[in-house]
Amino acid sequence: MSDKVYIFDTTLRDGEQSAGIGFTKEDKLEIARQLARLNVDIIEAGFPASSPGDLEAVSLIAREVKGPIITGLARAVNPDIEAAWEAVRHAETPRIHVFLSSSDIHMAHQLRKNKEDVIEMARNGVARAKSYVSDVEFSPMDASRSDPEFVYQLLAAAIEEGATTINIPDTVGYAVPSEFGKLIANIRANVPGIEKVRISVHCHNDLGMATSNSLAGVQNGARQVEGAINGIGERAGNTSLEEVIMAIATRGDALGVHTNVNTRELYHTSRLVERLSGMAVQWNKAIVGKNAFRHSSGIHQDGVLKMRETYEIMDPKAVGVPTGSSIVLTKVSGRHGLRARLDDLGVQVTDEEFERVFNAFKDVADRKDEVDDRDLEAILGEQTSMEVAEAWKLDLVQVSTSDHGSPTATVRLVGPDGQTHEDAAIGSGPVDAIYRAINRVTNLHNELTEFSVKSVTEGIDAQGEVTIRIEADGGSYVGRAADTDILVASARAYLHALNRFVQASQLAVPA
Ligand SMILES: [Zn+2]
Repeated sequence: MSDKVYIFDTTLRDGEQSAGIGFTKEDKLEIARQLARLNVDIIEAGFPASSPGDLEAVSLIAREVKGPIITGLARAVNPDIEAAWEAVRHAETPRIHVFLSSSDIHMAHQLRKNKEDVIEMARNGVARAKSYVSDVEFSPMDASRSDPEFVYQLLAAAIEEGATTINIPDTVGYAVPSEFGKLIANIRANVPGIEKVRISVHCHNDLGMATSNSLAGVQNGARQVEGAINGIGERAGNTSLEEVIMAIATRGDALGVHTNVNTRELYHTSRLVERLSGMAVQWNKAIVGKNAFRHSSGIHQDGVLKMRETYEIMDPKAVGVPTGSSIVLTKVSGRHGLRARLDDLGVQVTDEEFERVFNAFKDVADRKDEVDDRDLEAILGEQTSMEVAEAWKLDLVQVSTSDHGSPTATVRLVGPDGQTHEDAAIGSGPVDAIYRAINRVTNLHNELTEFSVKSVTEGIDAQGEVTIRIEADGGSYVGRAADTDILVASARAYLHALNRFVQASQLAVPA
């Protein structure tokens, strides 16, 4: 039996540090639940000392999500470690992750400490975490740019104090695979006590080498890989976990290791993170991109139809990609047909959610001949993330546009007071006109920072999926909606984001 590589997901911590992503507590819980279905080994749910809201979110995940180890990040200082323990203490299996800078540049400029002080801090931090929980991870931040001899000393001290996982980060994404692999090999050869602990790698993608560096670490003895779904994270992001997982699944022969991940959940997980983060996955992204399993050249199509393996190294089903061709629903399909299709897709919804999904399905089926799995997925994505209280509901949107003159939009909304409010506006384009009209009605100050439309399926009657992001009151809110009419989808996506903002501002008011 080959060795197992532990998969450590930090979508909710390092991933959330991407510019512009602001997950709500509910978003985080939904993603954590999906990560448990994916069967990752460890979920880093947040950095509890960073804010009371983050502590609360980590604590919620620790209580609710069973299966994976739940961990929280802490600097090597007591208040951070106490906050991390407070957040993860109710988890089925808790871990505390302590980190500290080890490079000269970070020690001098960020910590303003000398090497002896840093070793002392690491000892105290790990010992304090260990007084709460047996499972403690230690990371020397910026390890790949640190003096190796010093890293060995620091790791030995952390192991002596009881660290059980030693994580080696390439914090700024500077390493190349041969060099990073060698660093791991040298750590194994030079750190006293290293055989008692698991070695982990944590790479960033600034030079596009995060997955390669992580796998070089694995080939040199690392048995935990950290990363984020869709590779989200600061700057160019973290290691894409779906790449590492499928590289190991597909090339276990060359790598000699395996993971326990349920790969069929990868596509769902990717879509969920895409939707809640508002960060679109590039079309040609390995494993989860829209084109990852598309063959457009005739020779390739012919080959794949005759025998899939001719041009496909992975079965799209193994990643959970909806094929879109198998069973198609139409407007005459009833509740029973829809329920059966959802069961086949492995989708679980509550009765209440099912009714919403069914109504939305009927709506789409009225305007589109065939509703395939990708349409269903767009509907599900929207209907099951509607946990946001709808302070403002769309009652009507009407746009008049021409190639001469400005587009005009009229909107009618049902407000928090239960009354209908109507207004109209002109804009530089139809979407702009709709947003201006909505602003006139709601009077919520915000700035639109992103707007994207993509089609869910092929064809002229395809649903358009609109994702937008607004900044309001220092926060960032993503809204998303799908409709066969992209102007209607635009209006609903905007209201979705506004409602999230309204909900967040209400929560911020002390009860
Ligand atoms: Zn990182």
